[in-house]
Amino acid sequence: MEVIIPFFIAHWYLSLFFQTFFLHRYASHMAFSMSKRTEKIFFILTWFFQGSNYLSPYGYGIMHRMHHAFADTPNDPHSPKYDESIFKMMWKTKTIYSDITSKKVKVDPRFTKDVPEWPAFDKFARSWVSRLMWGALYFSVYLVFADQWWLWLFLPIQFALSPIHGAIINWFAHKYGYRNYEVGDTSRNFLPVDFLMMGESYHNNHHKHGSRPNFGGIRWHEIDPTYYMIRLLDKMKVIKINEYAREVKIEKKERKKEAA
Ligand SMILES: [Zn+2]
Ligand SMILES: [Zn+2]
Repeated sequence: MEVIIPFFIAHWYLSLFFQTFFLHRYASHMAFSMSKRTEKIFFILTWFFQGSNYLSPYGYGIMHRMHHAFADTPNDPHSPKYDESIFKMMWKTKTIYSDITSKKVKVDPRFTKDVPEWPAFDKFARSWVSRLMWGALYFSVYLVFADQWWLWLFLPIQFALSPIHGAIINWFAHKYGYRNYEVGDTSRNFLPVDFLMMGESYHNNHHKHGSRPNFGGIRWHEIDPTYYMIRLLDKMKVIKINEYAREVKIEKKERKKEAA
């Protein structure tokens, strides 16, 4: 128990961090920029921490741009308004993502602009060799350290972390929670205090201001941990936040509205 629970928690938050930081806010929305060399390092780190759950920044980036463009219409890659159940939605999402990543479908060029791409690395990181290697590693950790039978219940979750993280936002944050903005889709802020999804829960804020690096900050309790990491990496000159001034302006305007 002393090993498995911390191992599970670390894997949950670290894989999620690279999803929200690198795949979502960078590859899809370009909320900040980085050099091509730094980008390659983040590709590798994403593979390391997502392990058997590795998602291609190229496939994720394009599919997610389509989600914003077609949110809650029949062309949305995932929407609880059109998909009958969470499992059907997850399956459809997986199929569309795989087809885009393996370039089986033609994508409208407006969705591909500047999406980071490293085909050779993607090929390796998505391969069965890589997935089985990580899978065997997780299994060995459980074999050695799972001292109670119920701890084994966490293992299948670790094999499916990326789809689970995706489904929490794509299903629940389009169904439950509160809204700060009346937007043309069903997005909601799923958790008032996002202890689970590293800021992704503020999904209604995000649908309103897609390229804003901070998903929270509209109400006082909306603290977005990933944004603090972005600010830190920006200070360290690893990345550069785009349109920083615009960001500050939005926050000021929103706060004024809130106060009034
Ligand atoms: Zn959404
Ligand atoms: Zn987004």
